[in-house]
Amino acid sequence: MNIPRTSNPRIVIIGGGFAGIALARKLSKQEVQVVLLDRNNYHNFQPLLYQVSTGGLEPDSIAYPIRKILKNFPNFYFRLADVESIDSENNDLKTNIGTLSFDYLVVASGSKTNYFGNSEIEKHSMAMKTIPQSLDLRSLILENFEDALLTSDLNERNALMNFVIVGGGPTGVELAGALAEIKKGILPKDYPDLDTRMAQINLVQSSDCLLKGMSVEASEKAEEFLEKLGVIVWKNLRITNYDGTTATTNSELSFRTETLVWAAGVQGAIIKGLDDEAFVTRGNRILVNEYNQINGFENIFAIGDIACMVSDEFPAGFPMMAQPAIQQGQQLGDNMLRLLEDKPMKPFKYKDKGSMATIGRNKAVVDMKNFKFQGVFAWYVWMFVHLFFLIGFRNRMVVFVNWVYNYIRFDREARLIIRPYKKKLKENK
Ligand SMILES: Cc1cc2nc3c(=O)[nH]c(=O)nc-3n(C[C@H](O)[C@H](O)[C@H](O)COP(=O)(O)OP(=O)(O)OC[C@H]3O[C@@H](n4cnc5c(N)ncnc54)[C@H](O)[C@@H]3O)c2cc1C
Repeated sequence: MNIPRTSNPRIVIIGGGFAGIALARKLSKQEVQVVLLDRNNYHNFQPLLYQVSTGGLEPDSIAYPIRKILKNFPNFYFRLADVESIDSENNDLKTNIGTLSFDYLVVASGSKTNYFGNSEIEKHSMAMKTIPQSLDLRSLILENFEDALLTSDLNERNALMNFVIVGGGPTGVELAGALAEIKKGILPKDYPDLDTRMAQINLVQSSDCLLKGMSVEASEKAEEFLEKLGVIVWKNLRITNYDGTTATTNSELSFRTETLVWAAGVQGAIIKGLDDEAFVTRGNRILVNEYNQINGFENIFAIGDIACMVSDEFPAGFPMMAQPAIQQGQQLGDNMLRLLEDKPMKPFKYKDKGSMATIGRNKAVVDMKNFKFQGVFAWYVWMFVHLFFLIGFRNRMVVFVNWVYNYIRFDREARLIIRPYKKKLKENK
């Protein structure tokens, strides 16, 4: 990989997500060599992916070059690489561009979509975990409306205009809200010769409430907001299969739809070599101790979504969200320096800063530790927090200007089919 061995210890980080970047920043000016590996050359701000899928933001405004984030750091190396396996006995790892040895390894590979073993759903549904996937979804939504204009078969037209979103967590709720806004504000203008009232947005949740990890108030209010927007919320209903045209459920109900978005679960993005059951726990996450060390290792750590740190308050590990990932990255940065100075490491303590979700224009729900609120003010808070955590001044400005423009004009101008999505090609693979 053309990375010189120096007298400084080499810390290899797999993944430039929230956790990996937070850690790299902490180590930026220290006497260590940091090598960051990621299969993408950008950091992806996943909480705003749904806005890319629905034409509210261009993809560039939620992505940021990893090299730029860390450009002023001495002793820092980035390599565009897909890590294939880890050899924990010999302290090296294999990637698609070669092998690399490490003194310390931090796995921050995040998570991937969990289809719970259903290969049919995996093959035919749309996921929204990466920027390319969000662009595919954006294209498919728009292509469906173009096709709906052309067909004279009413059943086919219904299927093209029927959207099924599986999973009533923040991703499903936010996507459903944004689609409902499109139906209301944009479709009638863009497609005057199509009866856009026929467009249906179905949100399917297997349990009895939306936004499960949040308060009852947030959950009930989110449902109320969605129903006011015309979203059909199905609770206690499970999608059991989807063949690309029909989604079956655990009841007699089925949906004919050309677009099923799977937002029903994530699992750790495990890498070979650490996939043994000695390391892996619920949801394919790697079990770590309070210092983020992986069981049995002094020099191998995991942080963020991939890491499962069990505590009394969080017996199943911290939620797979940005805050635990950022905080673990920062804390591990401090701990690694302590480790190198032969000082004892400090155990990780999670500071819960709350959670939030937005449901279309002017509506959001926010749960803070001692304070819960919903509605317009919550929506402003949601916007401010997301702008604050976006990486890069330009991105913040672009997103802010887009949001103001969209708000004033009731518009989403990025509704472009730049790269047509060929659903049939995916299905035939
Ligand atoms: C649609 C969506 C909406 C979300 N909304 C919210 C929200 O509103 N609030 C919130 O707090 N959280 C939200 N989350 C969750 C949040 O984004 C994650 O918890 C957070 O990204 C986890 O950070 P991470 O660093 O652990 O992993 P990630 O940010 O996923 O980063 C992992 C990185 O590792 C790289 N990688 C993985 N495997 C390999 C490999 N083998 N080789 C090389 N590179 C690899 C990936 O390319 C990626 O860059 C959302 C997630 C999604 C998908």
